[in-house]
Amino acid sequence: MKRTSIKHEFVKYVPSELAEGVLYVSIPFATAVHRCACGCGNKVVTPITPADWHLVFDGDTVSLTPSIGNWGFPCRSHYWIKRDKIRWSGAWTDEQVVAGRKRDDRGREAYFTQREEAEAGVAASVCRPVRRRLRGWLRL
Ligand SMILES: [Zn+2]
Repeated sequence: MKRTSIKHEFVKYVPSELAEGVLYVSIPFATAVHRCACGCGNKVVTPITPADWHLVFDGDTVSLTPSIGNWGFPCRSHYWIKRDKIRWSGAWTDEQVVAGRKRDDRGREAYFTQREEAEAGVAASVCRPVRRRLRGWLRL
């Protein structure tokens, strides 16, 4: 049976036996896990990263974005978790799934490129004063 709501539970470790209708959120492991909201029982793992899912906790409820598309399961269910509610969405065609995956890959690639550049930028800004100081010493 399709669920219309889900309750969230903050945990450190996600339990091996998942209850129906519970979104387990592990902040230390930046992951949320739940059983597919259609009732098929499949385990849905949503990593929380800038390139994957974003979790919003408003003090009372949680939301996950983007939507959850369980294309790998026979149910192919597609829904949003918004403020502890399940908002059902239409199933995607295979073409839409492929296009969506490409979009996700591009998003992930852009994120990692930007992160590498940011890290390189930090390294450069750390190196600059050191280089300046070295130059100063060499002059002595
Ligand atoms: Zn399902």
